[in-house]
Amino acid sequence: MSINVREIPAHLVDEAHALDRSDPLAAHRDAFHLPDTVTAYLDGNSLGRPLKRTRDRIGDFVGEEWGERLIRSWDERWMERPLVLGDQLGRVALGAGAGQTVVADSTTVMLYKLLRAAVDASPGRTEIVADTENFPTDRFIVDAVARERGLTVQWISPDPSGGVTLEEVRRTVSEQTAVLLLSHVAYKSAYIADLPAITAQAHRVGALVLWDLCHSAGVLELALDADDVDLAVGCSYKYLNGGPGAPAFGYVAARLQDRLTQPIAGWMGHADPFAMGGSYRPAQGMRRFISGTPPILAMVPLQDMLDLIEVAGLPAIRAKSVLLADFTVAVAQELLAPLGVVVASPADRERRGSHVMLEHADMRDVVAGLWQRGVIPDFRPPRGLRVGLSPLSTSFTEVLTALAHVRELLAHSPA
Ligand SMILES: *Cc1c(COP(=O)(O)O)cnc(C)c1O
Repeated sequence: MSINVREIPAHLVDEAHALDRSDPLAAHRDAFHLPDTVTAYLDGNSLGRPLKRTRDRIGDFVGEEWGERLIRSWDERWMERPLVLGDQLGRVALGAGAGQTVVADSTTVMLYKLLRAAVDASPGRTEIVADTENFPTDRFIVDAVARERGLTVQWISPDPSGGVTLEEVRRTVSEQTAVLLLSHVAYKSAYIADLPAITAQAHRVGALVLWDLCHSAGVLELALDADDVDLAVGCSYKYLNGGPGAPAFGYVAARLQDRLTQPIAGWMGHADPFAMGGSYRPAQGMRRFISGTPPILAMVPLQDMLDLIEVAGLPAIRAKSVLLADFTVAVAQELLAPLGVVVASPADRERRGSHVMLEHADMRDVVAGLWQRGVIPDFRPPRGLRVGLSPLSTSFTEVLTALAHVRELLAHSPA
């Protein structure tokens, strides 16, 4: 259903058009699949849109690397691909020097492996510190690792519209803390934790820090090496547009790699996989964090997005992300606040990632109605509509159109 655009205040339409016209990244939008049936896509923080050229890349992969080179491709490139792609990801998006990033597993599995390895490298310490507002997988894995190793979890309970503060960390970490696990950007509120200061605070008491970068990789400027980060994990299907089931990445600082042994001791992480030797001996460097055969096919689309991010540059991507979020908040205040919608993300753009949470008691029904109109944000219980902003594929006009549909649905909702 198309909306009557005359109902959108003209000054907002003008503003959206002006922002799109002056957007230095606008031309990249055309590189993505933009089907007519999708009026507005605001869920690129859950599943990024595919790039047009990925269709050919997958076809070429089947025809050549797989179809023609067959098993020879393992020697020719696939053995190294998780590390080569990891190095590019590290350089382009993480501020990580070569040899510290690997692409493999799902975020859930990689998180488990790195958390277990970090805990095991901290003998005598009895606690893991984490927060109650983190994504379910993160909380479940913390509980599971604590149970396995007989540790206690110290839970921080942050403000749900904000996130974990340095002060909360200072009060909670201690000489007992083995590992602190936090998300850099909160998946609901979009709050950006103070990564450098929190990392330094944990180090002061001798704890390791594991950062979950699912909602920052590809959209925020990161400096893992410069910030002295120990460990990190993240998704490649959100702002890295790797596609459904694209593998995760893991980062382990070079200074720690020899000290960490991950728990899923498979043959592909062995020092000499094809010796088929007697017992497990972990490889040097990041290869030791690989377990079994990596999902090579599922890594194929990621290449295109890393290349595009390299061309566009993260400073420009972050700059547009900030403008998109500012615009989203401004439009929500004007069109939606009078209908009772509350912006549940930080007002301070420096502390806000690339999505905006809008709350209203009727949001579950509103989001269902939006999907029928080809307007696609996501719903996060109990009352949140999450506006995900992918700077390389989202336009300002797209945001305005989507929020105008939200207003129309709310204005006509029975409640
Ligand atoms: C998206 C997300 C995950 C997803 O984990 P998968 O193993 O890929 O399903 C985990 N943690 C956070 C914080 C996320 O945002």
